[in-house]
Amino acid sequence: MKKQSFPLLLSEIRACQVCEAHLPHGPRPVVQASEQATLLIIGQAPGRRVHETGIPWNDPSGDRLREWLNLSRDVFYDERHVAIIPTAFCYPGKGKSGDLPPRPECAPLWHPRLMQALPDIRLTLLVGRYAQEFALGERCKPTLTETVAAFREYLPHYLPLPHPSPRNQSWWKANPWFEAQVLPVLRERTAAALAA
Ligand code: SF4
Repeated sequence: MKKQSFPLLLSEIRACQVCEAHLPHGPRPVVQASEQATLLIIGQAPGRRVHETGIPWNDPSGDRLREWLNLSRDVFYDERHVAIIPTAFCYPGKGKSGDLPPRPECAPLWHPRLMQALPDIRLTLLVGRYAQEFALGERCKPTLTETVAAFREYLPHYLPLPHPSPRNQSWWKANPWFEAQVLPVLRERTAAALAA
C-alpha cells in the first residue's frame, strides 16, 4: 500500500461521503489523529452530541472514559499523543433501541490506511463490541463480557473495554471485577503508552 501524506489522508476522510445515502443527518466524519500518537482509542460511531460539535467523546460517555483512563480533557484531546478513531466516522442516526450500528463501509475503507499512517501506537483501546469485532475478528469471545474479562490475552497491543455510556450502569454493577481488575491495568498501560 502506497504511503500518503498524513494531512492529505485526514482531509480525504473529512470530505468522505461514501455512505451519505444511509446517514439521516448527513456525513460529518469525526476523527482525531497525528503521526506521532502513541495511544489509539477505537470506539463505535459518533452519537448525536458528537455529531453536532464535531468533537469526539464530547458527551457523558467521554467523561466516564476519561475518568477510567485518568486523563484530563487537555491530554485526551492532544492529537500529538492520542488518536481517536471510531469504527465508523459519522453519526448513523437513531434506531428503535439507541443509536444505529456504525456504517459497515467505513472501517474497511479507512482503517487500514490510517493504521499504516500511525506507526508509533503502543496501545489500542477497543471500546465496545463493534470495535472489538472489527479489530480482533475471530479472537473475540462470544460476548463482550467474556472478551473484556479475557483482556490479558490481547495485551500488550489491545485492551478491550465495555462502552462507558451511562446506559451501561447495569453492566458495571453486574461485573464489579471490571473496576477492581481492569481499571488499574488500563490506567497503568495508558500512562505507559503516553510516556513512550
Ligand atoms: S461513515 Fe465513513 S464511509 Fe460513511 S460517509 Fe462517514 S466517513 Fe465516509
